[in-house]
Amino acid sequence: MTRRGVCLVLASAPGVGKTSVSRALLEMEPDLSLSISATTRARRPGELDGVHYFFRSQAEFDAMVERGELLEYARFLDRSYGTPRGPVEAALEAGRDVLFDIEWQGHRQLRDRLPGDVVGVHLLPPSIAELERRLRGRAQESEAEIARRLDVARAEIAHWSDFDHVVVNRDFDRTVAEVRAILHAARSTRARQPWLAEFVEGLLKT
Ligand code: 5GP
Repeated sequence: MTRRGVCLVLASAPGVGKTSVSRALLEMEPDLSLSISATTRARRPGELDGVHYFFRSQAEFDAMVERGELLEYARFLDRSYGTPRGPVEAALEAGRDVLFDIEWQGHRQLRDRLPGDVVGVHLLPPSIAELERRLRGRAQESEAEIARRLDVARAEIAHWSDFDHVVVNRDFDRTVAEVRAILHAARSTRARQPWLAEFVEGLLKT
């Protein structure tokens, strides 16, 4: 009576707190694992190949696309990002849930590729002023860089209505609790339990 896993997509503008929320969810939910994306962007200090991303050249990335190895892929700030297919399909069939930290184009494609499997959550900042404060707090950046990040943020926020659930991240613990509740509810939908019809038939016979 294995259920089918849930694809939980957590999207937001950079700086809203998606990474911290993801980390907390992964710690609290033993059945949830993070989908590790392939990317052509450069590795940042502290990032490990195969842990944070699979860092690939553009030629290697294009070959993965060609071979149909990516469930979805998109360009973001002139770099390619994509989700390897194999681990996701294996997890869903084994009844394990997968968390995706991907942007809006990837979320759209994933919904098309895995109809019924995707639950999309968009995290919103409480205000643009608060988002700007968080983006500034990250590092000493030039005004031009802050302005560019805010443009990227606005572009992601503009796609809020693609998502099943929208959570305003005012309070970290509350946000984590809300996203967990969404995941838990998704696990018991009829589509997640393909064995139900037979089970209920058995119940009614006895
Ligand atoms: P970063 O370079 O800061 O790690 O990520 C940049 C953006 O790419 C983030 O919004 C992140 O959610 C998105 N992203 C990461 N992996 C993937 C992926 O596999 N597919 C898509 N479509 N977006 C991704």
